[in-house]
Amino acid sequence: MEKVLLITGGSRGIGAATALLAATQGYRICINYLSDHVAAERICGQVRELGAHAISVQADVSNEDEIIRLFSRIDADLGRITHLVNNAATVAHSCRLEAMSEFRLLKMMMSNVVGPMLCTKHALLRMSPRHGGKGGSIVNVSSVASRLGSPGEYVDYAASKGALDTFTIGLAKEVAGEGIRVNAVRPGYIFTDFHALSGDPFRVSKLEPDIPMGRGGVAEEVAEAIVWLLSKKASYATGTFIDVGGGR
Ligand code: NAP
Repeated sequence: MEKVLLITGGSRGIGAATALLAATQGYRICINYLSDHVAAERICGQVRELGAHAISVQADVSNEDEIIRLFSRIDADLGRITHLVNNAATVAHSCRLEAMSEFRLLKMMMSNVVGPMLCTKHALLRMSPRHGGKGGSIVNVSSVASRLGSPGEYVDYAASKGALDTFTIGLAKEVAGEGIRVNAVRPGYIFTDFHALSGDPFRVSKLEPDIPMGRGGVAEEVAEAIVWLLSKKASYATGTFIDVGGGR
């Protein structure tokens, strides 16, 4: 069976590292992105150089119409999806709850919770034997923030990842009998551009003394866990979590 993988937010950071690792393991890959076409095409080119078939598709995965368009492209260009990494997410400036607007909270939940649930819905419509599929594997990219809560920084982001964790547990049980595994990876502080969204691009370096291992992580270290959970090597793992947080 062809392995067809969608990585949401695959153009940068952890998603891009996942695409490059998966490229060496026989996947046909769709790299989704929101706005940076150049970065997406660059990673797509690197994936192709590694011998994998790849396309990049712009779509806001917090919007179901755009998700439907994204999955139609995958159907047409790569075939029926078998693997999904719900990686795209957002965060906002560090502040206390009193300063958070309704707009911010809704955007956080749409991007980090509703979006992954909708992407998973459209993946299940292709993976589940109930809909003619042959099973599959889904990995949600959560955060150690779901355990720690991020007080004074972004409790909204932490709560969105908590919801993603609960979704992972419930859905894993819902589809376990259909040959579909659902797991999550929870990164700690990882050196990517994500932290610029919180208002401090140098956040990870500054916080390194608070990390038990004494350093921030790199995207490739997270990608290893994601690709393992995606693969048949993790065939008896579902509804479970791998924390990649240097001890946090
Ligand atoms: P990143 O480097 O900022 O990359 C984010 C990616 O997501 C980009 O490809 C971006 O596309 C895309 N994206 C954002 N919103 C999107 C949307 N609505 N629709 C489609 N694509 C969207 O982020 P990262 O650090 O790799 O983070 C990846 C995941 O790891 C996230 O779920 C994050 O919460 C989680 N995580 C990260 C850390 C960390 O320290 N970095 C820690 C814990 C958890 P464009 O570039 O086109 O905008």
